[in-house]
Amino acid sequence: MPTALATLSPIPSREFWFREGDVVLSCPGPNGQPFLYRIHKFMLARHSPHFADMFKAEGPFEQPLETYEGLPVVPLAEPAVEVFKLLCCLYNAMNGAAFKDDQRPIARYDWLLRMCDKYKIAPLREVIFAQLKIEWPDTLSGWDAREAQIAVLGKQHLAARPSGRVHNMYLDDRLPEPVATIGIARANGLLQLLPAAFYDLARRDPRADWDAFHGITTRNLPANQRMLAEGMRSARWNTLGAQDLLALAAAKERQLQCLRELLGRISNTPLLHPPCTAAQDKLVDSIQETAILTRDPLFALQRARKHLDAAGICHSCMARTIYALTALRMCYWRAIPKIYLLERS
Ligand SMILES: [Zn+2]
Repeated sequence: MPTALATLSPIPSREFWFREGDVVLSCPGPNGQPFLYRIHKFMLARHSPHFADMFKAEGPFEQPLETYEGLPVVPLAEPAVEVFKLLCCLYNAMNGAAFKDDQRPIARYDWLLRMCDKYKIAPLREVIFAQLKIEWPDTLSGWDAREAQIAVLGKQHLAARPSGRVHNMYLDDRLPEPVATIGIARANGLLQLLPAAFYDLARRDPRADWDAFHGITTRNLPANQRMLAEGMRSARWNTLGAQDLLALAAAKERQLQCLRELLGRISNTPLLHPPCTAAQDKLVDSIQETAILTRDPLFALQRARKHLDAAGICHSCMARTIYALTALRMCYWRAIPKIYLLERS
């Protein structure tokens, strides 16, 4: 005989509580209380052979151990907040809302992927991989599109200062984190994510610790709050492997060296007019400065290209400089795997 779920008052979900639902998922809630989702067996069974087996006639679930309001209860070990993301994906897959909803970003896929593996939810796994490839592109045009999107979000948060919060979230809450991505990429053979993830990680400040920024007890400490409000991006530095940390440290020098070499090609190619050549040399210096300051050579090169009007290069010489900067930026992008020693991974 199944027993009624008799624990410290379980919390039913507001979003996933369908009156016609025929199964209840029980998972650990935020305060240790069981958190419940009343959903449909067919939805789980359709996406997951694991659940399909569980629910089939004469399967192990025919006689559940526990019930809630007369419905069978499936206990899950995953935290309620992660199960919520899974249900968002399964129920809202058609409009992609689970991935695009700014107010409920599921930028961190590690739990979701673990659930996909455990419950054999192959289609969602593929959807997450596709999303990761957009977030961590392996082409320069993909990278630029990503950065343009982040810049739009950044402006929203800048306008929301001093709190820096939009939809009650900081910029860092809304965007994916590179160290987790590096782990996911290695675990799932998605090595094409690594160059973008390492490049992005190298731009982040080691003081901006993801766990401190997102932990309930540490998030509101004034120092963390100030950095979050400024739009600082964090990383899970303490989960980065020792070898990756070394590669990152060594890359700092290699990054500048590569940029210097590439910029040297511009300096060694004089323009038609000596004043334009002098202006171009000045531009090269300012690119180096910006690259050091932002730890972002791609940004420095792009910014220089966008602000050429103010550089003092005449119109007929400008085309050559634009061409050189564009080619150089592509060379830099292609050098990233070498800079971060990723060709061996
Ligand atoms: Zn000129």
